[in-house]
Amino acid sequence: MKEITVRTQREVEAVDVTDRVAAEAKGVKDGVLFVFVPHCTAALITNEFEPNIKQDYEKLYSMLRREDWKHNAIDSNADAHLASATAGGQQFYFVKNGTLLLGTWQRIILVELDGPRERKILVKAIEG
Ligand code: ZN
Repeated sequence: MKEITVRTQREVEAVDVTDRVAAEAKGVKDGVLFVFVPHCTAALITNEFEPNIKQDYEKLYSMLRREDWKHNAIDSNADAHLASATAGGQQFYFVKNGTLLLGTWQRIILVELDGPRERKILVKAIEG
């Protein structure tokens, strides 16, 4: 298993981590790459990552901050938990000849929801 570290810069931030994650699939002829973010206030999504949609992801998740959530009585980050819980924190990708079988516009995106922080992404490639 490989651990990738990402230092986020803002409170809510979408970060393209495709190249760093895909590097872990090198050498896999026909297999699967499992990717997991061990955090309650970050997410991992697979989607397009052009500049406008990047801003839209950040706007969407920031909109959750407007609500008066009960968990905010504990540590004021309920919105980050809710976004993480609904977006998800794990993905898998099929691998063929060292390449992830992503759609044309698909990228692997770490979404920081309560930053800035240092985040981990755990990656494990399985052959066969
Ligand atoms: Zn919390």
